[in-house]
Amino acid sequence: MKKYHTVVIGAGIAGMETAINLGNQGYKVLLVEKEASIGGNMIALSKVFPTLDCSSCITTPKMSEASHHDNIEIMTYTKAISVIKEGPEFNVKLNKKPRYVDEKTCIGCKKCEEVCPVYAKHEFERETGSRKAICIPYTTAIPQIAVLDPDTCMQCGKCYDACPTEPKSIVFDQEAVELEVKASSVVMSTGFTLTAKDRKKEYINGSEKNIITAFQMERLLAPSGPFGSVMRPSDGKAPENVAFVLCAHSRDRSIGVPYCSRVCCMYSIKQAMLLSGALPLCDITLYYMDIRAFGKGYEQFYRNAEAMGIKFIKAKVAKMSEDKDGIVEMKIEEIESTGAPVSVKHDLVIMANGILPGAEPGKMASINTDEYGFISQEKMKYDPTATNIDGIYFSGTAAGPKDIVDTIAEAGAAAMKAANYITHGAGK
Ligand SMILES: Cc1cc2nc3c(=O)[nH]c(=O)nc-3n(C[C@H](O)[C@H](O)[C@H](O)COP(=O)(O)OP(=O)(O)OC[C@H]3O[C@@H](n4cnc5c(N)ncnc54)[C@H](O)[C@@H]3O)c2cc1C
Repeated sequence: MKKYHTVVIGAGIAGMETAINLGNQGYKVLLVEKEASIGGNMIALSKVFPTLDCSSCITTPKMSEASHHDNIEIMTYTKAISVIKEGPEFNVKLNKKPRYVDEKTCIGCKKCEEVCPVYAKHEFERETGSRKAICIPYTTAIPQIAVLDPDTCMQCGKCYDACPTEPKSIVFDQEAVELEVKASSVVMSTGFTLTAKDRKKEYINGSEKNIITAFQMERLLAPSGPFGSVMRPSDGKAPENVAFVLCAHSRDRSIGVPYCSRVCCMYSIKQAMLLSGALPLCDITLYYMDIRAFGKGYEQFYRNAEAMGIKFIKAKVAKMSEDKDGIVEMKIEEIESTGAPVSVKHDLVIMANGILPGAEPGKMASINTDEYGFISQEKMKYDPTATNIDGIYFSGTAAGPKDIVDTIAEAGAAAMKAANYITHGAGK
């Protein structure tokens, strides 16, 4: 059985940074990612608050560094299933999903993608755009290896015929592979996911097109996004009067997300600023309960948005509905005026979805989690990246909503703790 100093589970920005830190110290790392590319959620962001740096300009070099590092081995399309401690060490079970493409021979030429006749909803674009049934996951994906989606493929064989490699890289009968590896330590960087669009029925009933999620807005704003501009999903027109609904799915007991998702105020302000730059004549309003600008430079960022003419209204949005022309009517309760219900109309609405755990780290590694499934910070004040099991650490949003600054800081801390355990705990 192959052995590593550390298995890092999840190759978002937290996992990549943890792996790079360990690799730079000479430790052998296996970085496992369940998706077809490393990069996690950050690679799909447009720009990042509070600096407004282009997100992929930060993430792509990290992806490249991790993938070229002598001490880091990467397994994509591979899900970590279980982590079991045996003595001071760990057995990690993995499931490598079939890509239906040979990773060793595919040259990433995209000829299969060009001839594929099937269009499906693009996961990376958060369903704002489309992809082929066989494709490279996105332009800057690592590795640049195609993946075939068996649910949409109609097995016409055109990709096989177009594949220029010898032998052919398309392998229709590829099967999942179960693997087991050993490690001296494990870092859980399993990240986050967002609440489903229809989690709150008062906002979404099913047919609304012009009420979109925060992540869909990220893709519409991204220079590499599906259209290169922000347009209303219902008719492709540029919106003229846009609303951001903060705490749409957070701090709300009625939908089981009573906690603050921490980044929504800031990413909504960021998106409003980017939108104002892209569509200077657009009217932009943020409906908020409180603005939580907690990080360094964040309050100033918020004030800059106000100075740009973005409106901030302290209100709770009670209900939303969309008419046949795609206009969204919102019933709001203005907190700072009479509190009486008011009706407002917008032609595009962006919901700040709540943040949920991206996996079930508790089930996977038998570690303690909180009631929402995020990893428990057992020693929050003096060992913040520790779990209740010695040798298992975490970094990033696996332990709760947080921004990139805190995620990167935790990644360094988790790598240090894992290195200590390898040297003094599990032994080399
Ligand atoms: C709309 C939006 C905008 C944002 N904008 C900003 C911003 O401007 N500035 C900022 O500072 N922060 C922003 N954030 C927050 C930022 O996205 C996060 O802090 C950061 O991406 C967290 O990275 P992560 O590595 O912890 O998680 P993720 O990116 O979720 O990575 C986790 C990875 O683990 C993988 N994984 C999960 N389970 C398994 C398993 N069992 N086996 C193998 N792999 C697994 C997942 O596939 C994923 O790739 C934003 C968040 C949202 C939702």
